Amino acid sequence: MLHPLNATAVGDPAQIAAGAVCFAAVEAGSLGVEIVNLRAAHREKIYVIAVVSDELEPSLQAALFAAGADDVLVGSDRRQLVPCLMRAKRHLELRRHNESWRRSMQEKLDIWQEGLDHLPTPIYVKDADGRYLVCNAAFGQFLGVGHEQILGRRLQDFLPPGSAEAYHESDLQLLRQGGVMRSETDVCLPEAGIRHIMVHKARLDSRQGDVRGLAGVVIDITERKELEARLTEAAERDPLTNAANRRKFFEVASAEIALSKQGDVLAVAVIDIDNFKSINDELGHAEGDVTLCSIVDTLRTQEAGGMLVARAGGEEFFAFFPKEVAPAAPDMLELARHDIARYCQVQTGVGAAGTISIGLAYFTPSDETIDQALRRADLALYRAKRDGRNRMCLAD
Ligand code: GH3
Ligand code: MG
Ligand code: MG
Repeated sequence: MLHPLNATAVGDPAQIAAGAVCFAAVEAGSLGVEIVNLRAAHREKIYVIAVVSDELEPSLQAALFAAGADDVLVGSDRRQLVPCLMRAKRHLELRRHNESWRRSMQEKLDIWQEGLDHLPTPIYVKDADGRYLVCNAAFGQFLGVGHEQILGRRLQDFLPPGSAEAYHESDLQLLRQGGVMRSETDVCLPEAGIRHIMVHKARLDSRQGDVRGLAGVVIDITERKELEARLTEAAERDPLTNAANRRKFFEVASAEIALSKQGDVLAVAVIDIDNFKSINDELGHAEGDVTLCSIVDTLRTQEAGGMLVARAGGEEFFAFFPKEVAPAAPDMLELARHDIARYCQVQTGVGAAGTISIGLAYFTPSDETIDQALRRADLALYRAKRDGRNRMCLAD
């Protein structure tokens, strides 16, 4: 390290502090080696002035800059020294400013990352090529890998072959169309098992309108879905027997009727448990409940064939048969009646109890309402009761 004016060594290169201005005397014939060494040791932290003894050819000057010199000074020309040092000062100030800006940016990024890592919701940002640029710790847990391993890689790198294609396709669609996209799906997570998730993602565009990539958030909606299912269940089902309730019965029937065409034949049945009061009276209400549930379970085995059973109230039930199932209605009901007589019947003081009586009515929705058909089925049920119970009567 030589001072340009008196060519005296000014210290050990290893001791040079960051932000120093260094004069590197360039020996003839060893063009640039001194500078390359300084740069290798201190990178951009110092300002290097190559000191040469005579004015250099432009190509040789260029070689010094290529080697890492920030400036070139002819050592014998004292007039160049002050402007050279002024340039160095300005350059170092700029570099310090850039460095402090870079540090404050890095600090901000670190705060953002820390903030994101404290959020329980998986969050990510990808470039337009599908490579992750940013993600949080929750996203790492979601994929089952350390989140630092995710950056620079694509979703395909973490999922088994074939399973990332659907996500990739929807990313491409979003990148094409812009805006936001929401989708729901089931996923199997490394620790949590099967979860229902909603992915909410948005395309990112630059101010100039170029597509930059997309940002996404993965929201676990399993609990909400389970609650929804429980609420739907509660709104549609009788809590004691778990059969459909009246509301569900009329909802299903109305939907089928709306789909029916001129001349289609559907069927409804009204079903009532025989002498049920005597079961309550003799065995107690709790035993009555057990019998009621057994009868409903047996009736509902026919739901596999397309018949719908609903609790109309008390110990009375409706059955609905869509047009494809209606022809088999008598067989299905008789099968259920036989099974119930066999497995649920009890003898009480008034005779056989726990069997069922049934009134069945066919109807054509274009000619008759379901309420009218239920009324005819009810009359047929009275006939079945009157004729001795534990039987089915077809409505007139
Ligand atoms: P029938 O053969 O003429 O229909 O005689 P029944 O005894 O079944 O008819 P009734 O209408 O006289 O009595 C019905 C009984 O069903 C009275 C009511 O307390 C009972 N019941 C209605 N709902 C329930 C229930 O959820 N649990 C129990 N254990 N009993 C119920
Ligand atoms: Mg009854
Ligand atoms: Mg009744």
